[in-house]
Amino acid sequence: MKLLAATVLIAALVPAAPSGPALRGPSDACAHPEARLRTGGHGQERNDLTPAQAATVEQRLNQILDGLGLGFGADEQSDGADLRTAAQITVPVYFHVIHDGAKGNVSTAEVKRQISTMNASYGGRNGGANTGVSFKLRGITRSDNAAWFQDPERYEGTYKPQLHEGGKGTLNLYSTYIGGDLLGWSTFPWKYKADPKMDGVTIHYGSMPGGEIEHFNKGFSATHEVGHWLGLYHTFQDGCGGKGDRVADTPAERDPSNGCPTDKDTCPSRGADPVHNYMDYSYDTCMTSFTAGQGARMHKVWTAYRA
Ligand SMILES: [Zn+2]
Repeated sequence: MKLLAATVLIAALVPAAPSGPALRGPSDACAHPEARLRTGGHGQERNDLTPAQAATVEQRLNQILDGLGLGFGADEQSDGADLRTAAQITVPVYFHVIHDGAKGNVSTAEVKRQISTMNASYGGRNGGANTGVSFKLRGITRSDNAAWFQDPERYEGTYKPQLHEGGKGTLNLYSTYIGGDLLGWSTFPWKYKADPKMDGVTIHYGSMPGGEIEHFNKGFSATHEVGHWLGLYHTFQDGCGGKGDRVADTPAERDPSNGCPTDKDTCPSRGADPVHNYMDYSYDTCMTSFTAGQGARMHKVWTAYRA
């Protein structure tokens, strides 16, 4: 793959960064279980949350909601009818452009197209449900930094604390170059309290609308990663067993989708695989929708962690 070759080249040219508490090494890439990968070219899938980890997260989420008088019961999954906190959520966004000279220095118009794409996705305008979540651009920062640009995973602990704006309900969205098959990664809402400055979403600038990454350049990597930022799991979380993605109206699927398969139905439970869902790994050209249940879950998680 073209980008894979470029990654190897950059890795050979960039000297190893000094170690220190502010830096996170490549081995911490595994700290991003919510990352989105380009499917197809990747031999080994990055680990998702284990069913046990997801169960722990859900237990805590339900405890918090019970404490707020909004409990749904530990085993109840979200569906559209659960949308009890139905008020529109408008998320303020700070967009941080990390670039190396002209490389990755996306224009203000391109940033605005990315925000518009997210609003279309979350508003159900490409299909699926209106989740009741929208985004408002508050500011753009620009950092011309070759090291950050070439290895944003390594320098995540450096650029995020320097650039982060706002509190738990503010989305910090970083665009940069990301090597390998990685399109972006996010932090989950329940991680905010322990490390607020690390909260946010990083995307490959080539995944933005009109970007250079074939099949993945409609801007849905940001849609997908922000889904994690709002508390959604992958549609293939827990595979065919367990409790799936904790959303009742997304059929279970055994593994991530590749490309845009037709008639993919990997689990014995009801419903074909949700290959068009933003929280799968399909091509951007295949993605059209969130479900009402995912929208309800966003609101529940927002109430517990970001309101
Ligand atoms: Zn993901």
